[in-house]
Amino acid sequence: MNIISTAREMKKYINAYKKQGKTIGFVPTMGFLHEGHLSLVDKSVNQCDITVMSIFVNPLQFGPGEDFDRYPRDIERDISLAEKSGVDILFNPDVTELYPKDPSVTVKAVDRTDVLCGASRPGHFDGVVTVLSILFNIVDPDKSFFGQKDAQQVAVVEGLAGSLHFPTEIITVKTIREDDGLAKSSRNVYLSDDERKVAPVIYKALKSSSEIYINDSRKAAIKHFKQELSAVSGEIDYIEILTYPELKAPSESDTRLIIAAAVRFERARLIDNIIFTTEEESACSEQ
Ligand code: AMP
Repeated sequence: MNIISTAREMKKYINAYKKQGKTIGFVPTMGFLHEGHLSLVDKSVNQCDITVMSIFVNPLQFGPGEDFDRYPRDIERDISLAEKSGVDILFNPDVTELYPKDPSVTVKAVDRTDVLCGASRPGHFDGVVTVLSILFNIVDPDKSFFGQKDAQQVAVVEGLAGSLHFPTEIITVKTIREDDGLAKSSRNVYLSDDERKVAPVIYKALKSSSEIYINDSRKAAIKHFKQELSAVSGEIDYIEILTYPELKAPSESDTRLIIAAAVRFERARLIDNIIFTTEEESACSEQ
C-alpha cells in the first residue's frame, strides 16, 4: 500500500493507473477506522482494480464548538487496517495541502440540506461537498463508496455528482452494526460505559417506529421514538420521517422513506437511520 500526502503525487499515481486502463474506487473517510469503513473498502476492492482511501478530518465540515479538535485519530492503526483490508493507496493530506490558503471558491449544497443534520449543523454539508469536490478532482474515481449510515450525506453527494457532473458513480453501502444493533461509528469511543449500554435503543426505536408509521401514523411513530428514548440519558437532536432521497415531507403516495435520528450524549452525538418502504410486500425491510 502506498501512503501519499500530496495532491501532486496522487495525480501522478492515478494518471499511471488510468493509462494502464485500471478502474479506480474511492473511499473517503475521516479515519479512526472500523468495520463500517472497511465494508466500503471491501465493496471497492470487489468492483474496482485500484482502491484509494482518503483519511482527512475536514475542518470545513465542523461548526464552531463541534468536535474537530478532539475527533478521534490514530493514523498508525488506520494504516495497518487499511493495508490489511486491501487499500492500494492511502491519501492522508495535511489541512494545508487541500486548503493552502483561505479558499477563493467553496461549494454550497442547496438541496436536501434544510432538514436532519443539515438543519442542526449549519454549513456542515457545504464543508462536505467542498472537500469532496477537491478529492474527486484529485482522485478522479470511477466509483465512490459511501455508507448509508450517513444517508443524508449520500443524498447530498448524489446531488453534488449530478449537479457538477463529476464522472463518478456513487455507491451506497449498508450500515454495519455492533451485535446489539448500535451503528458502528468512530464517535462511539466517546460514549461512557452507561451510554454505550443504552445506545442500541436508538436503532431498536427506529425499527419499531417505522413499523408504527406503516400501521398507524407519523405522529404515533414519532411519539413512540421519543418514549423509547425517554429513559436514556441522551437528548434527541432530531427524529424525522421523510421521503428518500429527496428528504421531503411524505405524502400518502410516497413509498420510499427514511426515518432518521440524532441523539446527543455527553461527549458524542450519534446518528442513525433506516430506509424503508411502505409498499406491502417488502414493508419495513431495511435497505
Ligand atoms: P467518516 O469517517 O465517519 O466520515 O465515514 C466515512 C465513510 O464511512 C462514510 O461514507 C460513512 O457513511 C461510512 N460509514 C461510517 N460508519 C459506517 C457504518 N457503521 N456502516 C457503513 N458505513 C459507514
